[in-house]
Amino acid sequence: MKFVGAHVSASGGVDNAPLNAMKIGAKAFALFTKNQRQWVAKPLETKTIDAFHTNLEASGVLPKHILPHDSYLINLGHPEVEKLEKSRDAFIDELERCRILGLDRLNFHPGSHLVKVGKRDPEYMDKIMQAELGCLDVISESLNIAIEATKDSDVKLVIENTAGQGSNLGYKFEHLAHIIDKVEDKSRVGVCIDTCHMFTAGYDIRTREAYDKTWQSFDSIVGSQYLMGMHINDSKPKLGSRVDRHHSLGEGEIGWDAFSYIMNDSRMDDIPLVLETIDESIWTEEIEALYAFVK
Ligand SMILES: [Zn+2]
Ligand SMILES: [Zn+2]
Repeated sequence: MKFVGAHVSASGGVDNAPLNAMKIGAKAFALFTKNQRQWVAKPLETKTIDAFHTNLEASGVLPKHILPHDSYLINLGHPEVEKLEKSRDAFIDELERCRILGLDRLNFHPGSHLVKVGKRDPEYMDKIMQAELGCLDVISESLNIAIEATKDSDVKLVIENTAGQGSNLGYKFEHLAHIIDKVEDKSRVGVCIDTCHMFTAGYDIRTREAYDKTWQSFDSIVGSQYLMGMHINDSKPKLGSRVDRHHSLGEGEIGWDAFSYIMNDSRMDDIPLVLETIDESIWTEEIEALYAFVK
């Protein structure tokens, strides 16, 4: 079974998210549990938590089909100690907010090394490679710290693949595998694959052949047992452009076929499939269109 929804607004309180999901006929959803552009948020109040559960029950969405997203400010691979610590603390707080809400996974972007190397530098490739590997290790360490700090929680840390814009890591399956490999408690990690990011990072999914090849490589490098969510987006930029710009389904460079393969792929059973497409006024139609592909 497939569980499709969208990243809905939680403005006015997290308890509004299930109501917004219901309005678009969603069977899954994503949300921010705090303002995604601020470092600190006040703790969730009991009445908000209760209202969240009441509304969630009304929506019929199960907690495992909810994929909360962390703040955009957090960089778990930050090269400066002070900022790295701030990110780790904020991340641990986000994990706690998920646990308090009864949610079982938190989606985050791996991190960025922020190292600038001149394109004409003769050692460009070596320097970038070194910065990337070092940063991946820092990210794994951040995850180990966060897992240790939330020992009695079973919220899973769900690493999202990225488009590889700037110095963002996670644009190769190998990056995801590298991070997971160095996490001690692997029962606490998962991955979220964003179709736009995957495509602009250079993984083609537009034809049956390309789709199968890409996912076979995912299976062998990362492993589909780690797949705990997907972001279903078409892409404005071209294959391999390493630019992150989402588009409405069927309107971008990816096209409908890839989404029909996803809706019939058992790898995507029973996990949240979340639209982050640009026109939220057509989310209801996009969700219906996706379900119509199920054979
Ligand atoms: Zn995404
Ligand atoms: Zn994106």
